[in-house]
Amino acid sequence: MSGLDLVGPEQRGLFIGGAWRDAQGGEDFAVLDPADGSVLTRVADASVEDALDALDAAAAAQAEWARTAPRTRGEILRSAFELIAERADDFAELMSLEMGKTIAEAKGEVTYGNEFFRWFSEEAVRIHGRWMQAPAGGSRLLTMKKPVGPCLFVTPWNFPLAMGTRKIGPAIAAGCTMVVKPAELTPLTMLALAGVLTEAGLPAGVLNVIPSTRAADISKALMADDRLRKVSFTGSTPVGKVLVRQSADNLQRVSMELGGNAPFLVFEDADLDAAVEGAMVAKMRNMGEACTAANRFLVHADVAEEFAKRLSERMGALTVGRGQTEGVDVGPLIEEKAVESVHQLVTDAVHDGATVVTGGTAPDGPGFFYNPTVLLGVHPESEINTHEIFGPVAPITTFATEEEAIERANATEYGLSSYVYTRDLARTIRLAESLDYGMVGVNTGLVSNPAAPFGGVKSSGFGREGGFEGIEEYLDTTYVAIPAD
Ligand code: NAD
Repeated sequence: MSGLDLVGPEQRGLFIGGAWRDAQGGEDFAVLDPADGSVLTRVADASVEDALDALDAAAAAQAEWARTAPRTRGEILRSAFELIAERADDFAELMSLEMGKTIAEAKGEVTYGNEFFRWFSEEAVRIHGRWMQAPAGGSRLLTMKKPVGPCLFVTPWNFPLAMGTRKIGPAIAAGCTMVVKPAELTPLTMLALAGVLTEAGLPAGVLNVIPSTRAADISKALMADDRLRKVSFTGSTPVGKVLVRQSADNLQRVSMELGGNAPFLVFEDADLDAAVEGAMVAKMRNMGEACTAANRFLVHADVAEEFAKRLSERMGALTVGRGQTEGVDVGPLIEEKAVESVHQLVTDAVHDGATVVTGGTAPDGPGFFYNPTVLLGVHPESEINTHEIFGPVAPITTFATEEEAIERANATEYGLSSYVYTRDLARTIRLAESLDYGMVGVNTGLVSNPAAPFGGVKSSGFGREGGFEGIEEYLDTTYVAIPAD
């Protein structure tokens, strides 16, 4: 078996009510290989009618699924975890093919993404309420948790597995049914996942997957239907805002995992080797195409040149190429537009006074590649510092004091992840308390962990995925009053 075999010919369709089928109008769309732009395969293109069929299936399955024993729900997740672990190499190859990331990165995502299934298989049996006496006596106050009901999940292309399992895992554990609309650029991994969950015993209708090029129409139609009770979205901030507005009419619960503009702070007392190591992870994970990617390097003026030199040596030594080729460190970006936008940001930064220490160019085609780049002396207000780069470019600006570093780090509408490198414990605590971010990495370039609450503040959204908090997004609380004296 190899990656593409995980998605057999019939599985390149829509998965609705436990069955694979074509789109009603017979439409399909091409999934491209970003390493050369060729067509990998075609998948069915769901219409609004197909999406409503998927919601019918989810709504029909909801009551019985909510009554299913927590242990049963947990064990389905656990079986899926085992099946994915057995097929980790195939999942990694499939993701690498449709998304471009290297096999090593894709294996990392399989481990990370699959861990949400293991974590939530364990959380399924720990859903509970409380019992207390009213302060004035008399009543007993009980609380219980119930699944919120049918959900819509919309996911991005950058982590085709993990961005799905972070939502599907807790929803299954909580007893919710769901309609999943994967990113049109990378629908194959989600279709493979639907196959695995079916094999693991997930009942028909609990999970429905509808690849589509009509994301806006579908979300609008599904959210206009009051049977849908929850929307969880991972993607860009502008689309997140549209979905929050759309949720108003039926007051659906919403979780929003949106864009980031992560600062990476290096203080004069930092272990510079460790900071460079962390910078490589925070910047180059997923070719920089991560919402958690270090977007702005803020480095104390005393160490900035040395940091830039060491980082450029590491960045300049990376091998760019097709993700499935042995020895390649950096795969292609997702599409041509991404290369153009990254290059534009670099060009503008240079125009505003930055120096290119390494990179700054796109290699000759085919494929959507960009060379790992380090820029020094970037103006704080250059576009590259105010926009998500989503590519392998590290812009460095300098600061003189801790106050200035904090002020600059917070001078953005976003608030997802942030990173700090310092050996001073008191400073670490001051930073953790003053940075307006949902996540702070201290002397590490990696914050993601299925057991921790992942999420942002401000324009990076709200809600948390993973940790004890992750399942709460899928549970409502019912309070029961019982007079007892
Ligand atoms: P995107 O917003 O363009 O697309 C995300 C998904 O939304 C896709 O499935 C797309 O088809 C769908 N979509 C587009 N318009 C829609 C609409 N009107 N209604 C409903 N769905 C719609 O984002 P992208 O380019 O796929 O992903 C990159 C973005 O995702 C970046 O901003 C990145 O920071 C963010 N992201 C955030 C997290 C996080 O956890 N905070 C994780 C990964 C990616």
